[in-house]
Amino acid sequence: MTKTKRLILILADQLSWQQPVLLDSSPDTDTLVFAEVIEEATYVRHNKHKIAFLLTSMRKFAAEARNKGYPVRYFTIDKQVKTLLEALQNTLGTQQIFDQIHVCEPGEYRLKHEILTWSDRLSLPVVLHEDTRFLCSHADFKTWADGQKSFRMEYFYRGMRKRLNILMDQDKPVGGQWNYDADNRSGWRNKDTVPERIKFVTDEITQTVIDTVDAHFSDHPGDLSQFHYATDAIEARAHLEQFIRVFLPRFGQYQDALAEESTTLFHGLIGLYLNAGLLEPLEVCQHAEAAYRAGNVPLAAAEGFIRQIIGWREYVRGIYWYHMPRYATLNTWSADTPIPTWFWTGKTQMRCLHKSIQQSLDTGYAHHIQRLMVIGNFSLLTGLSVSEVCDWYLAMYVDAYEWVELPNTLGMALNADEGIMASKPYAASGKYIAKQGNHCQQCPYDPKLTTGPKACPYNSLYWRFIDRHLERLTKNPRMSLITGQWRKRAEDERDSIVRWADQVLDRIESL
Ligand SMILES: Cc1cc2nc3c(=O)[nH]c(=O)nc-3n(C[C@H](O)[C@H](O)[C@H](O)COP(=O)(O)OP(=O)(O)OC[C@H]3O[C@@H](n4cnc5c(N)ncnc54)[C@H](O)[C@@H]3O)c2cc1C
Ligand code: SF4
Repeated sequence: MTKTKRLILILADQLSWQQPVLLDSSPDTDTLVFAEVIEEATYVRHNKHKIAFLLTSMRKFAAEARNKGYPVRYFTIDKQVKTLLEALQNTLGTQQIFDQIHVCEPGEYRLKHEILTWSDRLSLPVVLHEDTRFLCSHADFKTWADGQKSFRMEYFYRGMRKRLNILMDQDKPVGGQWNYDADNRSGWRNKDTVPERIKFVTDEITQTVIDTVDAHFSDHPGDLSQFHYATDAIEARAHLEQFIRVFLPRFGQYQDALAEESTTLFHGLIGLYLNAGLLEPLEVCQHAEAAYRAGNVPLAAAEGFIRQIIGWREYVRGIYWYHMPRYATLNTWSADTPIPTWFWTGKTQMRCLHKSIQQSLDTGYAHHIQRLMVIGNFSLLTGLSVSEVCDWYLAMYVDAYEWVELPNTLGMALNADEGIMASKPYAASGKYIAKQGNHCQQCPYDPKLTTGPKACPYNSLYWRFIDRHLERLTKNPRMSLITGQWRKRAEDERDSIVRWADQVLDRIESL
């Protein structure tokens, strides 16, 4: 019996032998296609770090496939294929060698729906596989979500802990609690030093890609002289092992901290590897659990870290696919102010924003609190355009794909999703940023002042946000304390704060 000959398309964020299409593939019958496609790299101005990371990792993965004996068709960026479809058409040519095309589903609604049209356009069956590397299938998420009045992550997470048997003592959570957040979240008080990370050496493949990216994407953000990411599964595992040994013990403690001295603190820096396939989520969590059970990591740190992966990561993906395409159109607070030009240069005097944006531009990385409470919070308070902010985040980060970027930005940071993800906006004044770290000490603005030229802009903007949306926020029981405080203030005091905030907004370009 002749075997089915399959053409397997591997997308740049599917570089794993555990992905469903490769699990049952064979070099005897299957040809792999990889394409560095200009359209995918330029529909937003992706950070050069992201492009360099993905192209290098893809070239190395393709080399591994060749070593395993697979026939490989690889389109490098200078071949100028504009779309994935064009790469497939080019591979198929006029010969009728293949019976089917197989592809694992992409992380973006737009592309998934485009792929569904390929069968007709290529006159060949195109089989789309669900991405089984995620720990919660679309069907499982739907079953959970259909039964919920509100989509709170915490309940989803508990279900995942039980189902995956992670940090469980039979049917009870280890230590008796599901969540140890109360033990985490210290501010940064300059009392600790952050150890150095492994910097991976730039080999020949990486250097060739760096040169290519610098040449093709010169107007994109990113300083590739600072490129030190892992670019294959072996390096990513070395990075993970160092993280678990050296950084994880203090991950929880400094999870919400902001520091002048460190761009990464004790975070994992693993989002890019998980999202591109270089690390598997279950393996990462089991590794962290083993470190806790061996007595090397406190429970609060291990639990906090694992929650990010089997909780938040799976949850935001579920939210994305459950609510798309409507999700991308939501804009609860009617936010439409254009983003300031300094989002693309980092040139603002506001120290916390300057530091967070500059490192994002330079390296494609900012940790969660920078993304949420510094840049996201500012965007929420100033009413920046939801679509512009989402595009900015998608462009900026080395781990950004729409399935994870959109719910985090539109839902969590901008609270624009009608409360699907968060029961209250993550809005905060400069006092929160002052509490979490030491940026304010280097800032010309003062987090204790609300009005006047030296006042921290977050403060008046915070109250302006409350004032502008007072009616809506008052209906939210979790905001009633704050709206009550605002109402109790004298009218002329409220007026002067809001008037000052309006002036701040008028000067947004020069803050
Ligand atoms: C506005 C905004 C935009 C974001 N955009 C992205 C994005 O494009 N891609 C992305 O992977 N994450 C995104 N996040 C979530 C989170 O900030 C990053 O996953 C994290 O900062 C990556 O750095 P890390 O690997 O050091 O994470 P760590 O702090 O070490 O956390 C470990 C892992 O947990 C997972 N995780 C943690 N929080 C989240 C979350 N809220 N959603 C999904 N996964 C989570 C990630 O895989 C992360 O690598 C965004 C968050 C916000 C507030
Ligand atoms: S004073 Fe305000 S703007 Fe300056 S670093 Fe502190 S929070 Fe940021």
